[in-house]
Amino acid sequence: MIQKQLFGLFKKNQYEITNNEKEAQIIVINTCGFIDSAKEEAINTILEMAEYKKKNCKYLIVMGCLVQRYYEDLLKLLPEVDLFIKIEDYDTLWEKIENLIKKDIVTKSNKKTSQKIMDIPTMPMLTEEQFLNRTITTGQNYAYLKIGEGCSNKCTYCAIPYIRGPFVSREKEDILQEANQLAKQGIKEIIIIAQDTTKYGVDLYGESKLAELLKEISKIKEIKWIRFLYSYPEGITDELIELVATNPKIAKYFDIPIQHVTNSILKKMNRKTSKEQIQDLILKIRNKIPDVTLRTSLIVGFPGETEENFEELLQFIHTAKFDKLGAFMYSKEEGTPSAKLPNQIHGNTKKSRYRRIMEEQQKISKENLQKKLHHQYDVLVENVSFDGKYYIGRTMQDVPEIDGLVYIERQKGTNYLNKFIRCEIIKVDNYDLMAKIKE
Ligand code: SF4
Repeated sequence: MIQKQLFGLFKKNQYEITNNEKEAQIIVINTCGFIDSAKEEAINTILEMAEYKKKNCKYLIVMGCLVQRYYEDLLKLLPEVDLFIKIEDYDTLWEKIENLIKKDIVTKSNKKTSQKIMDIPTMPMLTEEQFLNRTITTGQNYAYLKIGEGCSNKCTYCAIPYIRGPFVSREKEDILQEANQLAKQGIKEIIIIAQDTTKYGVDLYGESKLAELLKEISKIKEIKWIRFLYSYPEGITDELIELVATNPKIAKYFDIPIQHVTNSILKKMNRKTSKEQIQDLILKIRNKIPDVTLRTSLIVGFPGETEENFEELLQFIHTAKFDKLGAFMYSKEEGTPSAKLPNQIHGNTKKSRYRRIMEEQQKISKENLQKKLHHQYDVLVENVSFDGKYYIGRTMQDVPEIDGLVYIERQKGTNYLNKFIRCEIIKVDNYDLMAKIKE
């Protein structure tokens, strides 16, 4: 949401948006401060972008969760950054950006440089169509649609509720307007996101309105695929399962972060579901939608996780056979309740548990992929291989940049880029599929 707002503000003030950091005169980095790896990635990106200040870039602006959490430290540590904006200051975000630029102009003008206007990184106004085309950062085919911000779940290991505040849904009309706008720009697939998409509407309408929202979006003619991610188990209703089972535009795909299955651990994590409830939910979804794709995420090495607890988790993974799985080693986040828990797990134990989970999952994913052999799917072609021999695409069961790809031999004289084609899967490897076009 904030990214879109910011694009809008820059546009309104006659700036051009670019995805190319080499040509940018202002670089804005939106950060995440959720877990150690995200913090590290954010810092690395800031340092990498700071290099462009030696060339074209005049201002480096950093905002987001990391800034909200470590504002004072970052001010001292990263003098290359011209402006840090905390989440709580987003109301006055443009004022801050303008002040930065004005201050610079005044300073330069006092030094009697004649470049003061030229130094302002303004660009000619773009047409509405040009602007919109430039600001979708995920290419021509799919776009993320954020339906809420923050989180009220308060899992004890997670800093997001403290950084982002409670879950706040966007008005349905506002979301639908954005979805329509994306459709007009040629977007074919919408990916619904929020910290917990199943909570959509609870704060505004007193109950979850995710199913209703998905139904409305599916009425937009140009939108062919819709998916929603991060659905917490307790929020997956029968209505939602029924909708996924019956609406051909909604991917038969559930992303259900379960985090663990040992009840005592789930309780310490302040998760709302028990192992038995998770088991029942998986069974219910699979009964209703036999060809469903299930993704989950887990935390290994939560404080107090014994070898027995871990074995229970491993056994569960073995039986549940998720199609896709992401595991994370527990990261002790300051300010969160679980950071104070006794029996923190040693780093090496976490690493070994992580490896064992991933090894188990690799076997399962491979077996599950094998089941796709000789089946037909619609594939959205999004790329062509370097050597030009293959189209590269995704089925409706694959989330961009997370799940696998489909490689299709490319016949001379054809151009299926950004189109859907019917394919038969002819080969399977660890993560990706090879297919041939069905005439
Ligand atoms: S649901 Fe839990 S893990 Fe996810 S953002 Fe909210 S508090 Fe964090």
